[in-house]
Amino acid sequence: MNDKKTYDMLIIGGGPAGAAAALYGARAGLSLLVIEKMMLGGEITSTAWFDNYPGFPDGVGGPEFGALLEKQLAKLDVPVHSGDIEKVELQGDLKKVTCSNGEFEGKTVLIATGTLPNLLGVDGELELRGRGVSYCATCDAAFFRGKKIVVVGGGDAALEETIFLSRFAEKIYLIHRRDKFRGCSWLQDKVQKLPMVEVLWNSTVSRIDGDRKVSSLQIMQDGNERTLEVDGIFIYTGRLPNAPFLAGIDLERDERGYILTTDKMETSIKGVYAAGDVRQKFLRQVITAAADGAIAATAISQHLYAY
Ligand code: NAP
Repeated sequence: MNDKKTYDMLIIGGGPAGAAAALYGARAGLSLLVIEKMMLGGEITSTAWFDNYPGFPDGVGGPEFGALLEKQLAKLDVPVHSGDIEKVELQGDLKKVTCSNGEFEGKTVLIATGTLPNLLGVDGELELRGRGVSYCATCDAAFFRGKKIVVVGGGDAALEETIFLSRFAEKIYLIHRRDKFRGCSWLQDKVQKLPMVEVLWNSTVSRIDGDRKVSSLQIMQDGNERTLEVDGIFIYTGRLPNAPFLAGIDLERDERGYILTTDKMETSIKGVYAAGDVRQKFLRQVITAAADGAIAATAISQHLYAY
């Protein structure tokens, strides 16, 4: 597809940041296109539920939230192109975005591509991925009904997904490298009340073993080696910015690759904006991603139409 149109705003990524930008942009009368490689909602659709978004007193499922975003954008006739970004050309007044299946031109580009899981980097992880090694409890929990599993990490994601997995697994070892969780106390309290969860403090995974699927892990606990016989391992050891298409592009980023922006979501390249988890920020949450998107679209509208 070779779209000849020049859009006011090309939005890369259809998670809460990209969707909020589309919502605000469409209502401000901008011509825009959302480019998303998976489904609208982004990473949040692989979270079973979250309950810290205002207006949802009983929480909301990630897939359900994604479906609501999709419905909202459809109501505004926001066009969504399904494709994976191969190349971006960001300098100059007109920006070009090339996907495997299309080429698009915009006066501005908003990068809202979120993050990817941080791999553990141990032997067996890649070999057994999809065969007992998972980064998505919502996707894979049902395969572990009545089984023994491990969750690795001590942040909000590890705690939240441990709570979800407790509905399926018979036993969960929650492995954390320190003796204190990073995640919020509300989630910590919930996890500590779950009878099937055993927290292994000061512990790290050194190897994942299995022939065709995971059968055991080697861990180091307080300096001692130990084997844990388990059927699966869910890895929640943080995230990394998801913007491989920026390789070789002179756009200011921090040492971990998160994009630096102003409080209007402007990056170091004129006409290029970033919103949501992919940018350097204090708090990565759905609500802050959505807020970033709204700010970016408003700033873009002002930049283009100078009001
Ligand atoms: P995170 O907050 O960065 O936590 C990552 C955890 O993994 C930390 O406990 C860290 O240990 C551990 N870790 C990192 N590298 C490791 C390694 N190589 N081996 C073993 N452990 C390792 O990441 P996250 O939990 O994915 O959350 C990411 C962001 O999303 C956060 O801002 C979080 O608040 C947000 N989030 C929010 C919610 C919610 O509010 N409902 C849910 C999910 C995520 P240390 O603690 O020792 O560094």
